Amino acid sequence: MKAIRIIEPGEIRLCEEEIPEPRKDEVLCRVICVGICGTDHGIYNGEFSDMITFPLRPGHEWSGVVERVGSDVTFYKPGDRVVGESGVSCGVCTECTKWNKFHCENTLSVGTVNSWDGAMCEYVLYPARDLIKLPDNIGFEQAALIEPAANAIMAIHDAPVYPGDTITVMGTGSIGIAAVALARIYGAHKIISVGRSDYKLELCKKMGATHTINTRRENVREAIAEITSGAGAHVSVELSGDHNLLDDCIYSTKPGGVLALLAFYTEFHATNFNDVLFRKLTIKTAGGGWGYFDKVIRLMVSGQLDLLPIITSRVSLEDAVSEIVNLKKDNSEKIKVMICMN
Ligand SMILES: [Zn+2]
Ligand SMILES: [Zn+2]
Repeated sequence: MKAIRIIEPGEIRLCEEEIPEPRKDEVLCRVICVGICGTDHGIYNGEFSDMITFPLRPGHEWSGVVERVGSDVTFYKPGDRVVGESGVSCGVCTECTKWNKFHCENTLSVGTVNSWDGAMCEYVLYPARDLIKLPDNIGFEQAALIEPAANAIMAIHDAPVYPGDTITVMGTGSIGIAAVALARIYGAHKIISVGRSDYKLELCKKMGATHTINTRRENVREAIAEITSGAGAHVSVELSGDHNLLDDCIYSTKPGGVLALLAFYTEFHATNFNDVLFRKLTIKTAGGGWGYFDKVIRLMVSGQLDLLPIITSRVSLEDAVSEIVNLKKDNSEKIKVMICMN
């Protein structure tokens, strides 16, 4: 089968690989759609290299169809439509045996750190326990967006966002836009999107943002102060990975509010944690979205959440290699590039 491998930082290619055989508790899935994520580009670019085992097969936002099942698998059969969690659990550690696989001590992140081979290939292997069946009315493209949306809903749900709250979302990538859409569903009153592309900020407005701030033209702290009459946001979601915006988040969150952190930072500087203390802020993190796929699926089934507008282009597996390499080039109108298998 065809598969994309990041051989080492700076080297990525389309390879020919064996189709794996499912062990007794595993399921082999034919991949239909896979989203390209900023993390995939980051791994190619040499970020997080100390946490990565190369060669790595990326692809953690995928949907597909069951092709073959192992001898112990009874819940799935060939033809079932599925998505996979972005982390694979071990099934035997203390947390897994307490039915808390989302805190598995031996989690393998799919296509990223401690890697379980990802889905940028024709057939991906998964433990049956880490798959989720898809309802009929969720298409494969929408389904491949469940993973980024699960990250966003983890931030919004756990903050928590209450009806009437003011929310700031720093970053206008797919998770940021999903966070905006979800904040609206959760009843936020003011939703402030912060980014640097007018195209993406315009889409944020369509998805529910009541206010937008373009960092190229506006002072973020002043703009948020004006929108909130000086009070600050109840919840600030940081997705940009820019430590200056992290500082702006801290400064612009109201006393007693919540900072929801989802970004990776490649550079660190002295974040003003004194302000976190003075303002009595709570820090919540939301990496991976594990355990939140079902919430996203229910919102998609009911029609409340439709993320298809964030797909800005569709490519073949062959063309995905150059898309990953060039993901950050001319990206002002690029949000989610979706690999669609033919
Ligand atoms: Zn991702
Ligand atoms: Zn475990």
